[in-house]
Amino acid sequence: MSNENGMLKSFFRDFRDRAESFVYLDRIQEMIEYEKQSIILDYNHLTDFNHNFAFYLLQNPDEVLNTLKDDFISFLRELNDEYFYEKRNFDLQLINLPVTHKIQLRNMKKGIFPLKIVEFDGLIIKIKKPVMALIDGFYQCNRCLDVTIVKEELDGKLIQPKKCEFCDCKEFTLLEGDSTFIQKQELEIKEPITDIIGEMPTLTLTLRNDLSKMNLHKGDLISIIGLPYLHQLKKNSNDFETRLKVINVIKKD
Ligand SMILES: [Zn+2]
Repeated sequence: MSNENGMLKSFFRDFRDRAESFVYLDRIQEMIEYEKQSIILDYNHLTDFNHNFAFYLLQNPDEVLNTLKDDFISFLRELNDEYFYEKRNFDLQLINLPVTHKIQLRNMKKGIFPLKIVEFDGLIIKIKKPVMALIDGFYQCNRCLDVTIVKEELDGKLIQPKKCEFCDCKEFTLLEGDSTFIQKQELEIKEPITDIIGEMPTLTLTLRNDLSKMNLHKGDLISIIGLPYLHQLKKNSNDFETRLKVINVIKKD
């Protein structure tokens, strides 16, 4: 299913809620006003707009969220191209997943993911200070001045070029003005329920951009939406661990 067959049209431009208002136009204007880089995308709106597409999101969340992000960015650029160039990096924060996708952390830790997108509660047990992370690195060769662009990988690593492909030089300078940095924050959560005998399931999460600016603290109860995946700990190793690509975090009272 692709966007080209016109199935989706433009969700962000065309969707109107039951009060007939263009919710996402308002949300984008608010985002710009408050200098944010994310927009809240309501799964219920997506269901009202195109039921099949919303259902397809549950089965192929990575693909559909990328399609929606492209759609969001193209609408944002129609409204305010300057803001797009100023911030460059944007996120969709999904809310209101169907209850069938609400799980407990312990089930995700087993490494089997019948659901590709999930929501679960967690209690923050450790939280680090936010840091700036390089996500698009522009490395200039110190000898021939050719520029190599390196992008961050799924696991958050950014591998610097080893040598220049034109002159074999191994020395590079990072062009900070051309490169893109985002704020990120690492935290560890555990399952909030205490009926488990033995080790409590925990998970380390990385929050990016606006999610890292939520002013969260140790002891806060949060709800997390994300895409679970298995990460191989070392190349050629048979050791894997469960990780999560975070889509949204909602603070609970
Ligand atoms: Zn070179």
